[in-house]
Amino acid sequence: MAIQIDILTLFPEMFQGPLQNSIVGRARNAGIARVNIWNIRDFADDKHRVVDDTPYGGGAGMVMKADVLARCIEHVRLSNKGPVVFLTPQGNTFSQNVADRLRQCSQLILLCGHYEGIDERIRESMVDMEISIGDYVLTGGELPAMVVTDAVVRLIPGALGREESAADDSFSHGLLEYPHYTRPRDFRGMEVPEILLSGHHGRIRRWRLKRAVQRTARRRPDLLREGSFCGEIKEIVEELTDDDQEKGG
Ligand code: SAM
Repeated sequence: MAIQIDILTLFPEMFQGPLQNSIVGRARNAGIARVNIWNIRDFADDKHRVVDDTPYGGGAGMVMKADVLARCIEHVRLSNKGPVVFLTPQGNTFSQNVADRLRQCSQLILLCGHYEGIDERIRESMVDMEISIGDYVLTGGELPAMVVTDAVVRLIPGALGREESAADDSFSHGLLEYPHYTRPRDFRGMEVPEILLSGHHGRIRRWRLKRAVQRTARRRPDLLREGSFCGEIKEIVEELTDDDQEKGG
């Protein structure tokens, strides 16, 4: 399974670096993810390649022009039939669940706004989905598009190396992940928990699950309230004491 993501932006240079390194870079090189960056300005049809204009009704800022955006989207659609996702602070909040749903589309088009945003008629007629990466306003949709691309690509089978795994990542079971330790065994008097040195895989797994549940209870009790757990996790959640839920860490 591979994914094709086409990103529509006024600032293609911003994507150099973040999408060329580490897991996304590797997935692209391996053909697991195809990420194409399109410059919206290339679809302007006047001499000055104008992409924005002042808002009808007056007011501050500029609005990205509908005709330019429509030409860009229609062109990209010829080779990408996936949903058009507009990055906007007004969209549904991005989450691991949304990333997992997007991963199942083999094609995606990410539209980055800038200035005051895009002409409303594009939103109404050509956008399938709107995603916000949080309740704050950024300068443009480029950073959000990188966030979405990274979170989606690392979920594509084969994108993570054998040494990495998304299975235990925070949110994948509705829990935050357990804490990690590596060498040295003693760091400034702080010892690695004895259980992790025991070589007893079953007990280590159970300890990690318990620490994940405790950590979630302390930091994100909302996740425990919202989640529907079964089996071992449910058992540990039900056994939580007040102490488990109150201490930091
Ligand atoms: N005037 C717009 C509003 O109040 O909703 C904000 C425009 S913002 C300065 C410019 C562009 O940045 C937006 O069109 C959007 O593409 C992107 N953007 C800003 N904050 C974002 C967020 N939290 N999530 C996703 N995209 C965001």
